[in-house]
Amino acid sequence: RERDGMGAGGPRVEAGAEFAQVAVDVTAEGTDKLFTYLVPRSLAGRLQPGQWVRVPFGHQRMVGLYVGPAERAPEGVALKEIAGLLPEIPPIPAPLVQLARWTADRYLSTFPAALRLLLPPEARRQEVRTLTITSYRLNVDDVEALVEQLGRRAPRQAELLTYMARVGGEAERAQVLADLGESIAGPIKVALEKGWLVAGRVARRRDPFAGEQVIPTPPPVLTPEQQQALDSIRQELIAPPGFRQPVLIHGVTGSGKTELYLRAIAMVREMGRNAICLVPEISLTPQMIQRFRARFGGEVAVLHSALSAGEKFDEWQRIRRGEVSIVVGARSAVFAPFENVGLIIIDEEHEQSYKQESPPPAYHAREVAAERARLEGALLVLGSATPALESFHLARTGVYRLVSLDHRVDDRPMPSVTLVDMREELRAGNRSIFSRALVEALDQTLAAREQAILFLNRRGYNTFILCRTCGEAIQCVSCAVAMTYHLGDDHLACHYCDHTAPVPTVCPKCGSKAIRHLGAGTERVEEELRRLYPGARVARMDVDTTRRKGSHAAILKRFANREVDVLVGTQMITKGLDFPDVTLVGVVLADTSLNLPDFRAAERTFQLVTQVAGRAGRGERPGRVIVQTYQPDHASLLAAAEHDYHRFFAEEVKFREQLDYPPFAHMIHLVLSGEEEAAVIETARAVHQLLVSGGFSGQILGPAPAPLAKLRGRYRHHLVLKGTDIGTMTAEVRAAFAARRGTWRKSRSVALSVDVDPMSI
Ligand code: ADP
Ligand code: ZN
Ligand code: ZN
Repeated sequence: RERDGMGAGGPRVEAGAEFAQVAVDVTAEGTDKLFTYLVPRSLAGRLQPGQWVRVPFGHQRMVGLYVGPAERAPEGVALKEIAGLLPEIPPIPAPLVQLARWTADRYLSTFPAALRLLLPPEARRQEVRTLTITSYRLNVDDVEALVEQLGRRAPRQAELLTYMARVGGEAERAQVLADLGESIAGPIKVALEKGWLVAGRVARRRDPFAGEQVIPTPPPVLTPEQQQALDSIRQELIAPPGFRQPVLIHGVTGSGKTELYLRAIAMVREMGRNAICLVPEISLTPQMIQRFRARFGGEVAVLHSALSAGEKFDEWQRIRRGEVSIVVGARSAVFAPFENVGLIIIDEEHEQSYKQESPPPAYHAREVAAERARLEGALLVLGSATPALESFHLARTGVYRLVSLDHRVDDRPMPSVTLVDMREELRAGNRSIFSRALVEALDQTLAAREQAILFLNRRGYNTFILCRTCGEAIQCVSCAVAMTYHLGDDHLACHYCDHTAPVPTVCPKCGSKAIRHLGAGTERVEEELRRLYPGARVARMDVDTTRRKGSHAAILKRFANREVDVLVGTQMITKGLDFPDVTLVGVVLADTSLNLPDFRAAERTFQLVTQVAGRAGRGERPGRVIVQTYQPDHASLLAAAEHDYHRFFAEEVKFREQLDYPPFAHMIHLVLSGEEEAAVIETARAVHQLLVSGGFSGQILGPAPAPLAKLRGRYRHHLVLKGTDIGTMTAEVRAAFAARRGTWRKSRSVALSVDVDPMSI
């Protein structure tokens, strides 16, 4: 079959003809090419990017998305004509088509792959559609007469008609069956045949908020600091688009950033424009959404992964049809199909989850939002207690307007942070995972009937199992990582590929029996707590306890209702939780993130400790934080203990500048992976050669084994490209690969993944 829109026998290309670029069958993964078609005279000058068209494709007709004019026709082929428009499918707003093109360019993906981001989430799989239900309408002039006439001869028939008249002449099928019993199906059929009832279908919205009550809450009076911040936002909102500066709100946890977002949204709605508010997936709790709904009610649509496919589809349609003016959503909501966006907010803008990993394009929602804001003349507002180094750098260099909130609402004090040196504990003979200071604090908290949160960024019971004879940690068979021991089901698990294995009694390498369990995870913390405090109610929140839908919310609800005294958890518990009775936060081991082989390790640690510390003392009573570490002198921890972002920034930015890391350089991360290591190495060298001979102007580091040298049975080697101008870098990479299409690929089984501006390496 012909896989091209170009074929013999098409109309001859006339001088002055218009050509169109069309993405054919864009919903299907793997269609990564655009095709050129002739624009028929009837459509000349009438096509808008984002319109759906019907095109001949091989021997079929297919649906395509018109993305823009083509400069010229490919040579040596007879083009086919676009067959017609598809007015029944609503077009994609033209600025979004432009945004997709930018995204593809910036993140080195194909254009169709970026276009897929614009389609309704689950409709990329075709089966999700608008839900319709059957309803009946009574079509009889004189019901009483007919009922009389039917009388005893057809009592069920009479009953049906009487019922229909009583409910006002219209009813949904499901309701009729529920009220009159399943056996009414027969009489319904007869009534339809006789024409007494007429069947129709009505669209039914799948409402993620169905049955939830919202109590409208009037906005609080702003604090002077908030008021000042809002004034700055207003100035930018009313500035002419070309002079509008993005706003970075640097506000300590609990300083009222969310309240500012709500006020800014209210302003932009008054201007008749729409707002998008991005929130990290994990913070999109019912609590969070409730705050938006309490202020704006039915004007709010939500987009996040906890919705069912149908709910997502319907929420997306409400946005597209303009039935709402506000979207609150996770990363992909940056592509929400609004026509007239006046404001894009990114809460916790430093969050890693704003970066898409797969499928390509591996975009960062903050960068895409900045571009969308530019395209549509909207204001970008970023908020964080711990801004990404890149963002704060832009604020310091005057690109962003910096707004600071240095105080908590009601001037509640920031929690006091104590760093505990775990080496000291060992010297004092304490081998427990809890320091004496933490135990004492837990004693006091529980005695005072307050709540505590213990954070540890590793799940499982033991983080690895070591042979004392040969010194080997037990590794996953398919990944170059140590397996974690899980007590719950007594097995080892790989946290990268989910492979599980029984716990060996002898070392698989050397046969020794001296096997030692080391390193504590959340399961171990939970067990230790139960042992120390048998009377305390303990809950654990990590990937293992939240696999079932709704379990995440259920745990939080129990904590909020004071049915739990101590909550143990991973990253999941660090964000957005606002529980006034939490007075103690313990970081069981801060070093887990410090020791990552990653240029962002220090930044991430500072963010984690600050975020988790922010969970303490949000109510009347002051909070305190205990951070356990083997590196109490680490600059990031010292700065976090002082709640001093500026100190952290000053230290970290020096390091980044010296070593040419973001924000002073851009990076492109190329990973080659395959089952045969030799082929992977050879291909990595070929790619290196390609970039060198293509004249790549930045630095090329590697090839070398990637930090995760094997994953899911595939060996991984990588190259890191560095440069100052990302536009130049991506253009050069694209050109280098295009020039040698196919030849760099030494082995078909080696895959290349490209990550522009990676979050970690
Ligand atoms: P952040 O997003 O910076 O962590 P929030 O907006 O969640 O802060 O505010 C923290 C708490 O203070 C919330 O419970 C919020 O309802 C409350 N709050 C915010 N602004 C005010 C205000 N001006 N007056 C009273 N309470 C406020
Ligand atoms: Zn061994
Ligand atoms: Zn594995």
